[in-house]
This record gives sequence, structure tokens and C-alpha cells, in this order.
Amino acid sequence: MANNEDKFKKIIAHAKEYGFVFQSSEIYDGLAATYDYGQYGVELKNNIKDYWWRSMVQRHENIVGLDAAIFMHPTTWKASGHVDAFNDPMIDNKDSKKRYRADVLVEDYIVKIEAKIQKEVTKAAKRFGETFDEKQFLTTNPRVLENQKKIEDIKKRLYSAMDEERLDDIKTLIEDLGIVCPMSGSRNWTDVRQFNLMFSTEMGSLSEGANKIYLRPETAQGIFVNYLNIQKTGRMRIPFGIAQIGKAFRNEIVARQFIFRMREFEQMEMQFFVRPGEELKWFEYWKEQRMQWHLNMGIPETEYRFHEHDKLAHYANAAFDIEFNFPIGFKELEGIHSRTDFDLKSHQEYSGKKIQYFDAELNDSYVPFVVETSLGLDRTFLAVLSYAYNEEKLDDGSERVVMKIPPFLAPIKAAILPLVKKDGLPEKAIEIFNSLKNDYMCFYEEKDSIGKRYRRQDAIGTPYCITVDHQTTEDNTVTIRERDTMKQDRIGIDKIGSVISQRLKSNI
Ligand code: ATP
Repeated sequence: MANNEDKFKKIIAHAKEYGFVFQSSEIYDGLAATYDYGQYGVELKNNIKDYWWRSMVQRHENIVGLDAAIFMHPTTWKASGHVDAFNDPMIDNKDSKKRYRADVLVEDYIVKIEAKIQKEVTKAAKRFGETFDEKQFLTTNPRVLENQKKIEDIKKRLYSAMDEERLDDIKTLIEDLGIVCPMSGSRNWTDVRQFNLMFSTEMGSLSEGANKIYLRPETAQGIFVNYLNIQKTGRMRIPFGIAQIGKAFRNEIVARQFIFRMREFEQMEMQFFVRPGEELKWFEYWKEQRMQWHLNMGIPETEYRFHEHDKLAHYANAAFDIEFNFPIGFKELEGIHSRTDFDLKSHQEYSGKKIQYFDAELNDSYVPFVVETSLGLDRTFLAVLSYAYNEEKLDDGSERVVMKIPPFLAPIKAAILPLVKKDGLPEKAIEIFNSLKNDYMCFYEEKDSIGKRYRRQDAIGTPYCITVDHQTTEDNTVTIRERDTMKQDRIGIDKIGSVISQRLKSNI
């Protein structure tokens, strides 16, 4: 296949053409970084959710579910740090219309001065040879000293302006340094504004005195604020987990990567509450478990890798990502974070409610530590789609696009197809459809040649096509065609259900 960018474009086009993913409000030219899941997309998405829920909740006696509201008390986001700690100063270039983190622009400028100093060092080292004393050079060379002083002054101005939120001063600094937009090369900047990734809206009518509330940027906080409710009513004993699937919203600045980075997306998160001091043991456990979950889909190991965070968030003491080999490169699919007791402690402080666990074995009370697994549902969907998309040349010289979606996740499990639209074949096929529809998502179609119908099922990833032909009316047998091998077997109608069930099971 052509290069990866090409492949990405093809996947996006295929996803649209076959009813997996549409741009939101497309008839109005769409809304940036928001997407709708079509008739097959919603099935695949539901199957991924179901796979996650079963393996996290159903198969763990100590993990339970939750479905918390998207709107939460505004103090939640003070306690979590989202209101203050996740605020970034942003600036736009009026010519390129590109938005930048203002502090990053200044820091990039500093990196350039540092490079100049390094150049002086390399030059001098060459000139003085063996006798070169780098330390002495750095502390005495006038040009180096001048540049170092420059860096210090810039840092002082930047950090004090950031700490005191003097946004005008950050802009003046950018202007004084003559920083240009890397895209347009111009110095035509807007003012610096604080930019928070949270969407806000008002609750209540204006006359009542409206209250600013946020659309949650992560589902995790719904779990933390329900910790006491669930621990008490579920009589949960540590270690235990709470799992949730739900929408999250972030006003992303860079949002041009299809469903990889959206402004409205869905997360599947699990917070696991453990004894203080045992968090790193559980962190290792969940790291391995989560990787295994991905591999159990049947996508090869080479498509995944771990990535350790260099810079930890303010709440974490260990963090790894599971990255997937998307057509846009290896990128984060899931985060596994050891969040310490930061969130529960903070909610305890802000709410004034005691969030403690009495550990009967230790005869001691404590605020539990948390290990979380945080997976993007849409990114998992994109991973499956990227892996599944295959263009094949067939022996007869023709081509097909086949979506090799793991069969247990496929939107449609079986297509029931009468060979022709007469001789009682459609009636027989509908009978079969009705006998299977309670157990499997099935599809019935009688239009077009059987070859065309097979191709359409290949394109949406249907693992089995059941064809009713003239022999069916004689001996009650049908053919079952496998999507990947295109091999056909003849089986009795009474066996269809059990054959599908057996083949689906052998795949997980
Ligand atoms: P990134 O670094 O890619 O912005 P993040 O580190 O901010 O991601 P987390 O806050 O750890 O992401 O969120 C957990 C998971 O939620 C991510 O691993 C990802 O799968 C998903 N996710 C986060 N932001 C988005 C988004 N804008 N669109 C789709 N999925 C997202």
C-alpha cells in the first residue's frame, strides 16, 4: 500500500462511504473535531465497549461500574486542578491564524540562544585543543556571558509574568524578543489569553443567578466523587475498582487528526483503589493486564508499545502510555497512571467530607491510593479500523477492500443472502435471518449479484456470509463463506447458529 498518509486518507474515506464515521453536522459543512458514528460505526463502538466492560467489570469480582453525570459541581474542577493547573497562556498569529502556547514560544527562543552558546563552546574547543577548559570558558567568555545573562533575564520576566498572570507582559516579552510565527514569519500577534481546555456553560436561568459549570474533561472525577457512595453501598474492600464509560470534552487546540483528537470523545476508565505503598505493585499489574486486553483482540504485538512519561502530571508518581501504530505513527491509545491519593485527598479538603477507608486487616484508616487505566474509546475504534483496512489483489486479477475487524467486534456477524430473487430463495433466507436475529446482528440483502454483495460485506467487515441457493430448497443446506479466506463450506441450516458461535469464540 502507498505511504501512511495515503492510508489514513483512504481509511477516513472508507469510514464515511460505508457508514462508520461521518463528520458532525456535515450538511452545514461540519463542525471541527466532532464526528458522528453511523450505522456500522455505532455497532463496532458498542462491541468495543462491551468487550471492555465484560473484561473489566464482569470478570472481576472486585470491580463495579458507574454512570456519572457529565455535569458536576464546579468545585470538582477546582479540587482536581483543572481550573487552575491546566490553564495555558495562548497567543494567535493573525496572519497564519495559528495558535501557540505563549510560554512555549519564549522557551523555544531560549533554546536557540542555548544553541548559540553551545556553538561557541564547540568552536573554542576546536581552537584550544587539549588545553581547553570548558568550565572556565563558560564563566569568562564575554559572548557566552552576554547570552547567559540574556537567558536569565528572559526567564525571570517570563516566569514572574506567568506566576502573577500578567498576560500583557508576556506579550511585550514576545514583541521585545522579536519572536516570529514559525508558519507565517510575521510578528502580527494577538493579545495573550488564558486558555482552558474545559468547555463551560451556564446552569439555571439568568434571573436566578446563573452558575458557570463545565463539561467534564475526563470521566475520572465522577468516580472519585462517588468513591464513598460505592464503597459503602457496595461494601467494597480494598483493593477494588470502579469502572465507567462516558463522554468527555476538551477544547483541543490542535484537532486535525480525524477521530484521534476530538473535542467531544468517549473514555473508558477504571480507578483501582489500593493501600498506600502498594500502588506501584498494582501499577505493574494493570500495565500488563491492559496490554493483554489489547492483544486479545488478535491485533499483533508489533502494533503496540509502552511509552514511559518523562514529565509526570501534578497528581502522578508513575505513568505509562500504551501506544498504537496508527497511520499517523505510534501515538497514545491508553494511559496507565499511578495517581497517588491526590484526588481523594483534594476532594476531602474541598468538600469537608472525610474520605477514609478503615482497613480491618491493618486496623488502620487511610485515604486510598489510586491506579487508573484510561482508554480512549474512539482511539481504540481508530486502532481497529487502521489494522482492519486491507486492500487485496485476488487470484482472478480483481481487487477488494476487506475490513479484517476481529470477528467478535464486527458490526454485522452474518449476512443472509439469497442467490437469486426468485424460486422461493428469499423466503427461505428470511426464515434463516429470523432464526438468527435474536443472537446475532444479521443483515439481509437480495439486490445485486452475489459477488457484489460479498464485496460490500467484506468492506464492512462481516465475517460470515450465508448464501441460500437452489440446493437449499432440496436438502436444507447453505454455504457459509469466511471473510478473510473467502472459503465456502456447505452446512445444514440447523447448524448455522452453532457454527457461527463456535467460530466467534475461537477468535477471542
Ligand atoms: P494526548 O497527550 O494525546 O492529548 P492525554 O495524555 O491528554 O492525550 P489522557 O488525559 O491521559 O490523554 O486521557 C486518556 C485517554 O483519553 C487517552 O489515552 C486517549 O485515548 C483519550 N483521549 C484524550 N484526549 C482525547 C481527544 N481529544 N480525542 C480522543 N481521545 C482522547
